[in-house]
Formats: sequence, C-alpha cells, structure tokens
Amino acid sequence: TIRMLDPKITARRPLDLLLWGLTSLSGAPAPGRHSDCLDLLADLGFRVNPTRRCATLEDIDAYYREWQEKRDTLPFEADGCVVKVDELPLQVQAGATSRAPRWAVAYKFPPRQATTTVRDIEINVTRSGALTPVAILEPVDIGGATISRCTLHNEDELERKDVRIGDRVLVERGGDVIPKIVKVILEARPPGTETFRMPRVCPVCGAAAPRPEGEVYARCVNASCPARLKESIRHFAQREAMNIEGLGEALVQKLVDHALVKDIADIYGLDTSTLAGLERMGKKSADNLIREIEKSKSTPFERVIHALGIRFVGERTAELLAEAFTDIDALMRASREELERVFEVGPKVADAIRQFFDQEQNRALIARLGAAGVNMQTAGRPAVTAEGPFTGKSVVVTGTIEGLSRDEIRTILRRQGARVVESVSKKTDIVLCGQDAGSKLLKARALGVRVMEAEEFLALAADSK
Ligand SMILES: [Zn+2]
Repeated sequence: TIRMLDPKITARRPLDLLLWGLTSLSGAPAPGRHSDCLDLLADLGFRVNPTRRCATLEDIDAYYREWQEKRDTLPFEADGCVVKVDELPLQVQAGATSRAPRWAVAYKFPPRQATTTVRDIEINVTRSGALTPVAILEPVDIGGATISRCTLHNEDELERKDVRIGDRVLVERGGDVIPKIVKVILEARPPGTETFRMPRVCPVCGAAAPRPEGEVYARCVNASCPARLKESIRHFAQREAMNIEGLGEALVQKLVDHALVKDIADIYGLDTSTLAGLERMGKKSADNLIREIEKSKSTPFERVIHALGIRFVGERTAELLAEAFTDIDALMRASREELERVFEVGPKVADAIRQFFDQEQNRALIARLGAAGVNMQTAGRPAVTAEGPFTGKSVVVTGTIEGLSRDEIRTILRRQGARVVESVSKKTDIVLCGQDAGSKLLKARALGVRVMEAEEFLALAADSK
C-alpha cells in the first residue's frame, strides 16, 4: 500500500503501525531493556503490541495460553507470541545466527483446522511448465478466511496423501496463511472413489508432459504453451517486476487466445487500436494500458532482471545481479564462476542463469526488449576506479562513521568497486566497522572475516579521491 503512486489511495486504506522494537535512539540515553524501549515508544504515542515481562518459564506459558484464548479479540491475525530476552546487553551478547537472533524465539499457536469436501482436483500449469494438482474444496471458513482451493504441491504429495475427488479432508491454516490438506478422513470416504492419476499430457495445450527421473514435477515440453505464456506475462507485468497496471489475468488470457502476444516482447508491439478492438475494452482503458506499457520501459534494471523469469532469480537475487553486473551484456557474458562470486548466488542459481542466457530464444527476446526501449542497465552507473583495495570485494557495513551517512559510505565503497551486501557470511571479504557496531561485528570475528576500522577506510577513501 505505501508503494502506491497515488497518496490518496494510500490514505483511504486503513493502515496502522504497531512497533515491536527500537533499533537506535539519539539525543537521549538508551533504555537498558527491551520492555523500557516499548514503554518509551508507547509514551511517545506509538502503538505497540501487548507485552508482559515474565520472570519464569511458567509465566511465559501462562501468558501464551492467555493469548491463545484471546487471539480472536485482536483486530489482526496473530499466529503466536515472541519470547525475547529483555536485557539489551544480553541480546548483544547472544548475537544471531545467519537466519535469526538468538535472543528471541517464536512460540506459535496451534494451527486452525476444519474439515470439508474435495469437489474436484484441477491441474495448474506454472511458468516453468510444471503440472501441479490443486484441490477444489467445498468453501469452508477457517479463522475468518474462506478456503476454497488448496495446493497439493506435486504428484508425490498427492500420492502420499491419496486425496481423491469426493473425500472429506482435514484442512489447516497455519502462520503462513497458505492452507494445506493435513489428511484424508478415511472413515468418511464415500464408496466408489478412485485414486487420482496425474495426466501425462499438458491439460492446456495437449503437448507431452513427461516427468524426468529424480524430479518431482511433470512438465509441459511446449515452450510456447499458452498456459506457460500466460504465467510468464503475469510474472513480467506484476508490481514487483515491470509494474504494468491493467495487464490483469482476464486481459492476458484474451491477448494470448487472440495470438496478439506470443512472447513477452510482443507486449511492446501492442497499440491502442488493437487493444480497443478487444471485447470489454474501451478506448480509454486501451489508452491507459498503452501508457503503462510505455512507462514500464524505464523500470529499474534489477526489476527487469526479475521480470525475465529466470529460474531461482527472485527480487533479491535480481538486485544483487544488477549491482554486480550493471548492464545486460555484462550479465549475459558472465561465466558460472563470475556469477557464483555474487553474494547469495550458489551453483544451482548460477547454472539456471547460464542456462537461461545460453538459449538463443531468450537472447533474441532480450534483444527485442532492448530494441523496444526497455531499460537494460543500472541507473547512474558509478565510475568504478580501475583497481583498489575494494575491487571485487564483498563488504558489509556495520555501525556509524561520523560525518558520513550510510548511503554515502555505500556510494564510496561502490565507486571503489566493492559489492556492498547486508549480512555477514563466509563469502564476505571485509566488514567495515564504525561506532556502535552490533552483531555483524561479532559474527565477522566468529567467522574470521577481515574487520576494517573507520580510520583505515577514511584514509583509503581520501587516497583515491
Ligand atoms: Zn502446455
């Protein structure tokens, strides 16, 4: 909602903000406890979540049970409590693993469950051609949400649970809100049901859909399968990618069915008169859509990379790639080894990227997108100095350096050829450490990563000016 371009729409939405912590405070002495921070925030007029300081495990358990009873009285969904160490110095001492802090732990409520009937099992075809079974359910209310569909993931899962059309099933909705079928209630199975068999042909285009040895999915082999194409276009146009508003499911369906769009580059060949000729599409909506398509050409490079739909390359990986390679030619030329040097890119992802760019069809597609005017480089490419102490190094910044904002520090590092990353891992080359450095410094020491003090950094930065 806060990403909406029109603030009037944002203002209409009933947004609220509940704070659950304070990361830093200036101009006043920092409180010594997490609970003091929350009290301070509440005194300042912010909304904070209900909390209680507990002295024993029994206290924690009692508080948890209290909320398990009262969870429906909250004006939002809650899936549990979080138990935290209250003393802030102890939090720092406990530090964090690569995934989570060691001083906080979630204490989840049991998932909500309900029983319902499987009306049908449909086969979805994903962007990569994978055939996935979906159970169509008799709509049922679970904790305030109506559940009418539920993924069965893949053939093995379907076989293991032996879900059949007509079965009574136990459905649960956990913290992740995606419902799942826990099990079939066998005592309630009606007579005459049959084991569901996955098709060996694509239900949409009729092409073969073999399941390769060792893989969990059968895949439609047809690269221009309309189902796959529709999913690719939807992925391309979504907000986190090219953000083409108005290119929704129904319209994509029509464009593909009328063969107006045969691949994503065709989107840039659409014009108002063609669009206005489609049923339920007026001149005004056609104009708006063309404007949106035009606007999408200046989408930031990292989103363009995400939009291409390379396997395993999500938003975050796309950002890291855009930072490391800065334009499409550099990215397309990158070897597996060069790709793997990017933070968070492992062999599997590097392989998928190489495979994508090695396909002539994809290279042609990118050439056409480029020719249509789609942005293919990182904005304001910093002039990278030829060779320096940071060239090709992955650097994490922690703490503050007087006189420089975090953004300024990052810009200096990038100009000197560094890749600035957020979290410390074994792949990190340098941790740049300012004042009040936190858990990242502890982690760097634990992993034996080189720590650079602010003075050394400032001297190097001054040298290269
Ligand atoms: Zn197909």
